[in-house]
Amino acid sequence: MAQNYIVSIDMGGTKILGALLNSKSGIIATTKKPTEKKIGKSHYAEALYNTVQKLVEIAEIKQEQIKAICLGVPGSVNPRTGIIGLAPNLNIKNYNIKKDLQKFTKIPVLIENDVNLGALGVHNFGNSKGKKNVLVVFVGTGIGGGIIIDGKLYRGTSMTAGEIGHMIVQPEGPQCGCGQFGCFEAIASRTAMVRDLIPKLKKKKRGYLVKTFRKSGQIKSRTLAAALDKGDSDTVKIVDKSCDVIGQVLASINNLMNFEMIVLGGGVMEAMGGYMLPKVKEAFGKYTLKDPAKHVRIVESRLGDEAAIYGGLALAEEFLGIKV
Ligand SMILES: [Zn+2]
Repeated sequence: MAQNYIVSIDMGGTKILGALLNSKSGIIATTKKPTEKKIGKSHYAEALYNTVQKLVEIAEIKQEQIKAICLGVPGSVNPRTGIIGLAPNLNIKNYNIKKDLQKFTKIPVLIENDVNLGALGVHNFGNSKGKKNVLVVFVGTGIGGGIIIDGKLYRGTSMTAGEIGHMIVQPEGPQCGCGQFGCFEAIASRTAMVRDLIPKLKKKKRGYLVKTFRKSGQIKSRTLAAALDKGDSDTVKIVDKSCDVIGQVLASINNLMNFEMIVLGGGVMEAMGGYMLPKVKEAFGKYTLKDPAKHVRIVESRLGDEAAIYGGLALAEEFLGIKV
């Protein structure tokens, strides 16, 4: 019998990443295309539908074999109505994407915040499978989190729960993209680390980072990882500070929530997890209450950037009762 699938689409600020998958075979086809600048709301649905068609073509399946289309949106969404409240990176505000996409296809459309979707993926197909109370944290350009309570994703009163990156840890600290000062992600994300590193680079004449920065004008996670490997003292100092703050925030949240497991993912952890995880654990131990610390394990996500793609399977089961 022909297998059934879902399509999971990650709507990033720079690219639309689509995947065809089911829980039996995993991901069987992917497609990637850049997000067109000034694409405008009305063209989004069409671009997404093209992604679905392309996956059908690549995998040589029938469209009827797709049972749901799950969209991961970098912003506030309402999975029940299909409305994107605000997605600054996509330049979208108050838009019912589900309604528009449904004009092209009868396949049910679901939407979810991309970080929540990542947490669902980690929880159902990654490290914390079968655990009840879990915190999933992604450290990358920003810092995002998903909270699992009693085996279910906690979305909060108006679906905005999990904004761990905007917990204020230093009110006198640097300004965050959200407008506040001293948010967790304004201190410990890759963006924050690079911001602190650049003035130091400008004072230096040579070295690996100086060369890379001059050439490309940017510093990615893997550049930071390479500088760490080479023992660059500024990088070591800045990454260590980030680890300390991450441990501190995780300890505070765990004191409040008493989790079984905390899973760390995202570009920064993927690139430097080997160095950072022990440091984060050390800081966690320094700041935590004794009892909750005994019952929580802090681990690195093993799903990588496919977490949100897999989260689509859990979303389809939660909202449509579909298991593929
Ligand atoms: Zn903030």
